[in-house]
Amino acid sequence: MSQVNISAKDKLDDPFYRYKRDRVLISTSERFGGLTTIENWSTLCKQLKIQPQQLQKFFSKEWGCQVDVNGKIKKKLLRDNIETSLQKFTEQFLLCPTCKLPELLNSHCQSCGNGPKK
Ligand SMILES: [Zn+2]
Repeated sequence: MSQVNISAKDKLDDPFYRYKRDRVLISTSERFGGLTTIENWSTLCKQLKIQPQQLQKFFSKEWGCQVDVNGKIKKKLLRDNIETSLQKFTEQFLLCPTCKLPELLNSHCQSCGNGPKK
């Protein structure tokens, strides 16, 4: 499966970048007025090193609809919609504001040592 970099947009093309995740894989259905399931939800959460609840919260705000903890979204979406939102989530919550690496742990960067200003 092809992978993409977990990074800021300007670093997306770097082939040597070591933080990768799979591309989003979805299936959709017309049931209940439209449903989207992120098929590789748990893999993505693992690769991003996040709790599913974090992404669940972000996505339901982003799309103004119900999202469950297994990656089922009560709305019909395109894969591009989800990739774009996931990118937004990455830049907002996962990347260190200083070195732009996804090494944040409790707001402290494990890579460059940057932490929240007191
Ligand atoms: Zn950093």
